[in-house]
Amino acid sequence: MYGGTCITIACVPTKALVYQAEHPDRRLGEAAWFEQAAAKKTALAEAMRARNFEMFDSPETSTVITGRARFAGPHTLLVTDAGADRAAG
Ligand SMILES: Cc1cc2nc3c(=O)[nH]c(=O)nc-3n(C[C@H](O)[C@H](O)[C@H](O)COP(=O)(O)OP(=O)(O)OC[C@H]3O[C@@H](n4cnc5c(N)ncnc54)[C@H](O)[C@@H]3O)c2cc1C
Repeated sequence: MYGGTCITIACVPTKALVYQAEHPDRRLGEAAWFEQAAAKKTALAEAMRARNFEMFDSPETSTVITGRARFAGPHTLLVTDAGADRAAG
């Protein structure tokens, strides 16, 4: 969850849904409205996650490694499930 809970499942998606409930597209039936609201909420969260990933991954001083991490030493993380296992110090 690049960007954490707030963007992915908390502040942003809930407020996106609240906003759309307060500003409904009256041309849509309830089911179509819900489908559209959910799609907009997901698109917003995905765009923000992608932006966060870019911010984390683009500086020369940082590289995002997606996987499961554990300390292999005081200054070394071992990341598994990351395609090929990688050590980062
Ligand atoms: C429904 C909902 C609505 C909310 N709305 C608002 C709001 O409107 N305004 C507001 O200010 N706050 C809101 N909050 C609270 C807000 O989401 C949290 O305060 C905020 O996300 C905490 O940020 P954080 O960086 O401390 O932790 P998080 O954003 O939760 O980041 C922790 C990250 O660490 C990762 N992680 C956890 N354990 C491990 C582990 N063992 N190994 C590796 N990674 C791990 C998690 O996957 C996560 O990505 C809301 C919360 C909820 C649930």
